[in-house]
Formats: sequence, structure tokens, C-alpha cells
Amino acid sequence: MRLILLGPPGAGKGTQGHRLHEAYGIPEISTGDILRAAVRHETPLGLEAKTYMDRGALVPDEVIIGIARERLAEADTEPGFILDGFPRTVAQAEALDQMLLESQRPLDHVISIEVSEDELLQRLTSRREIEGREDDSDEAIRHRLEVYQRQTAPLIDYYRKTGLLRPVPGVGTVDDIAQRIKTVL
Ligand code: ADP
Repeated sequence: MRLILLGPPGAGKGTQGHRLHEAYGIPEISTGDILRAAVRHETPLGLEAKTYMDRGALVPDEVIIGIARERLAEADTEPGFILDGFPRTVAQAEALDQMLLESQRPLDHVISIEVSEDELLQRLTSRREIEGREDDSDEAIRHRLEVYQRQTAPLIDYYRKTGLLRPVPGVGTVDDIAQRIKTVL
């Protein structure tokens, strides 16, 4: 099964991605996690990415597309994968289409987790207190939500046109949402 988890920051993509990974035994690929690991290890990629991440901006498409291409070439993605946080722009979605076409691995579902802006602001602000992520400052949170609206929300239409879009309300308990996702797969 090849899935994309689409949704604004704070929608719960990571939490649901983890559940899906456990349920289906396929890798959960989070570009945010890959970037945070690079930042932690102070690799050249990490040093470059950090300047974008800290202010809630997107890392340039060519950098992210390179990361995704490498990760999707690994053997553990053979039975499928769950993408969390990629693609995030139309250019990334087009590059992904191309990669999957080349490897003859069509997508099965694009799960769009829907949460209102007010709820997202609340969640991201309380997550800051728990996790202490540097990009959870008020300023960066606002910027990430703006960037989502401008750059990532257009992917909802992009995937609706392909017939792969599965909208799922992202409110309720983690279990409620996991259950809703299961029913659309
Ligand atoms: P969130 O969904 O809460 O914003 P992520 O962990 O998905 O968190 O991403 C954190 C940051 O990593 C983003 O704000 C961005 O700077 C960078 N990033 C992650 N994925 C991508 C991507 N596909 N394209 C560009 N930047 C990305």
C-alpha cells in the first residue's frame, strides 16, 4: 500500500502515520523527521535546512525532492510506504509522480486530514510547551500555517483530480481518526 498523508501542520499526520506503520508494517517516511535528524547531526543538509525550518519556511524543492528520491529507493519501501509531510508543493507532487511512474509504483490513497485553523493554532501552541520544537514559536507557527494555505493546500485539488483523495475529519480522539482512515483504505 502506497499512501500520502496530507494536512496542515498540527493535523496529526505523524501520529496517524505511526499507527498506519504499525498496522501495515510499511515504513513511515517523514521529511520533517529526516530534516530534524540532519539538523541534530549538523550535517551540511541539516545546517542548510535549519535556516528555513526555524522560521517556518519550506526547505527548497530540489533539496526535498532529492531526499525523497533517495529514501524511496531503499528496499524497505518495496511493500509500500506512508509519506508524511511530502509532497508539500505542486512541484514536489509532480516530481513524486515522475519517480513513482519510473518505478511503476502508483499511489493508492491520499488521506487528507482536515482540521480548522483555530484548532490547529491551539494544538501547535500546546505542543510547543510539551516538545519545545524551535519552529513552534508564535511567529513560526503563523508562518507555517500561511505557507500551508498558499503552497500545500493546492495539493488537495491536485489529488482530487486523480481520484485518489480521501478526506478524513481530523477532530476527535486519535483512535477515532485512525478508525476513519481505516474505513477509507
Ligand atoms: P509540521 O507538519 O508540523 O509543519 P514537519 O515535521 O512536517 O512539521 O516539518 C517541519 C519543517 O520541515 C517544515 O516547516 C519545513 O521547514 C521542513 N519540511 C518538511 N517537509 C518538507 C517538504 N516536503 N518541503 C519543504 N520543507 C519541508
